[in-house]
Amino acid sequence: MARCGTNSDLLTAYVDGELAWLDRLRFHYHLGMCRQCRVTLKRLRAAMRTMDGPQPEPLPDRVRDEILARFADANE
Ligand SMILES: [Zn+2]
Repeated sequence: MARCGTNSDLLTAYVDGELAWLDRLRFHYHLGMCRQCRVTLKRLRAAMRTMDGPQPEPLPDRVRDEILARFADANE
């Protein structure tokens, strides 16, 4: 487990598409050689899919009303 120096911040940035293209390319190359990172990446993506689930928690009515009220004000 300790052989790979890639930290989870880099992996997260890669999944989020926040890496500069050169870092992305470098990491992509690293992924081809590093099984540990591929496994971690797969888990990370699975976890993020779970968080972005198709059924987001509905807003409480009170919060929704407040947002709608502000939206109406802004449109005045
Ligand atoms: Zn690695």
